[in-house]
Amino acid sequence: MPAQAFFPVQPPAMPAHVSLVCPQCTHQASFEAPYWAVPQGEPAPGSGALVEWKGRLVQARFPGLVPWEDPCNAAIHPAARSKTLGVVVCAACGLVRRHLLDWPGDAFFRCDIQGRTLWAWNRSHLQSIQDALRGDRGSSEPSPFGPVKVPRHFLIAKHRDQVLEATARLLQSIRA
Ligand SMILES: [Zn+2]
Repeated sequence: MPAQAFFPVQPPAMPAHVSLVCPQCTHQASFEAPYWAVPQGEPAPGSGALVEWKGRLVQARFPGLVPWEDPCNAAIHPAARSKTLGVVVCAACGLVRRHLLDWPGDAFFRCDIQGRTLWAWNRSHLQSIQDALRGDRGSSEPSPFGPVKVPRHFLIAKHRDQVLEATARLLQSIRA
């Protein structure tokens, strides 16, 4: 099993790849896990120091930005559990910066529909939401996110068309 990137703490159901608004240029950026978990006997993917933690080896993915000893690393500083520590990486402007996730405020795939905010973790989550909106209620479309639950507010017929329109615009505004 190769090394796996991990967040010290993350909201339930949050996937490994999250799209957020770049704090520098507002294009779509990626929120990256700050650490590797390296199985015994496997080569470490990065060049930083390996640290033993709870019987396994860990390594910082961005040692200059988020060291293992980071005060917001909730794995070793339990008081830091309120926010998810990671690194924002933006292909559009080149930004690579330590970041504490503010969700859903940071969400790139987000639209306001009649007073409530619909958000998705990333592009494929948004597409799963669209599928759920288009499909019959109760149908179980296979989705990498498991059954997608869309709040009732967005399922109301007059709102649903707005959601489908807004999310389609959102997807068209970016390149795959
Ligand atoms: Zn950017």
